[in-house]
Amino acid sequence: MNTILIKKIKLNNSDKDILISGNRFERIADEISIAADIEIDGSGMAIIPPFYNGHCHSAMTLLRGYADDMLLDKWLNEYIWPFEAKMSAADIYAGSRLAILEMIKSGTVFFCDMYWDEEQTIRAAEEMGVRASIGVSMMDRLDHKTLKRNFEFLAEEHNYSSRISLNVAPHAIYTVGKELLCKCRDAAEKNNLTLSMHLAETQKEIDDCLAENNTTPVRYLEKLGLLGENSVFAHVVHVDEGEAEILAKTKSVIVHNPASNMKLSSGVLKMSLLQEKGCRVMLGTDGTSSNNNLCMLDEMKLAALLAKVSDRPDLATADEIFEMATAKGAAYFNINAGKIEEGKLADALLINLKNERLVPNYNLISNLVYSADCSCIDTVICNGQIIMQNHKVKGEGEIIDEAIKVCEKLTKA
Ligand SMILES: [Zn+2]
Repeated sequence: MNTILIKKIKLNNSDKDILISGNRFERIADEISIAADIEIDGSGMAIIPPFYNGHCHSAMTLLRGYADDMLLDKWLNEYIWPFEAKMSAADIYAGSRLAILEMIKSGTVFFCDMYWDEEQTIRAAEEMGVRASIGVSMMDRLDHKTLKRNFEFLAEEHNYSSRISLNVAPHAIYTVGKELLCKCRDAAEKNNLTLSMHLAETQKEIDDCLAENNTTPVRYLEKLGLLGENSVFAHVVHVDEGEAEILAKTKSVIVHNPASNMKLSSGVLKMSLLQEKGCRVMLGTDGTSSNNNLCMLDEMKLAALLAKVSDRPDLATADEIFEMATAKGAAYFNINAGKIEEGKLADALLINLKNERLVPNYNLISNLVYSADCSCIDTVICNGQIIMQNHKVKGEGEIIDEAIKVCEKLTKA
């Protein structure tokens, strides 16, 4: 079994030696003296859990900055959808690799994705060593043959590594009708998979749902039996007190995407209401065409600030926000990681404490939430493997060149 020994690293303010054996943290002690396969000098660095991104459309990195600052309708119909119609499977692979590169460099080791040609994103995640829950997208506008293939794909046995899982991804209540939603619910239950979906993102979604179904989106999904601890809902901006109670009672997971909600003028998530009711909240970036990066450090800062703008400065503390981005995110996706503890899966970041944004270091978590950028991340470890060291990812130049080439081709055609 491969071993990594990290010497003299700061863990919660004290110097520790940490032994990783295989894909787990085997021992954490004041001093460990063994000959490991790899030894890392951790002096001047701190070890923290990495980030778990609850909602992303990874291949949309190819659309970063392609169309901004316009109303949703025009944005989708005139820019996003025509561009996406030209994307091939190879383009999606290149876009996914660019996204994963960006995520690793900003300390993320897991993402929940929703796109199509999902096998390309799975291939990229497998090769680059990260964890992913890859959504198989469902929408009424997909033809019968594609939907049939999607459900079969979800039911099949796959030889993926333990880092990869699939999820059932009905896009939203306004693109997926009752019948298909129920089929998605059944497929998730039958195959023991997570269900992921956009929910209560805009006021229009609420108004349309009230007009069509005479109830609000959360209550509508409750009636259809789609809520539960394996259901992950992105955005969840527009909910009333009763809906927050329903989400808490059913243990449904809410993914807060503050950058996207602000950029698309979707509204402000009611953090204090959700916290008061005991809802399970994690963070996500959404895709790069509505963000426009995949940096969870940015997302933590925005989540903390946004909660304070609409409420009180003592709400959504740095510790709470950091936990949403790390331990809670891992737990909600049933990944036994997100904490630097013996027995946990070995996912970790080594942070350079001499980085100018982390000095002085009165409170590391506060510095990470409010001050850090990704240049402070030296090393990324996922499942006991080093996937970035000295802030360099293997093959990053080639991944970037390929993405540039693909985008040139797509905009010329
Ligand atoms: Zn989304």
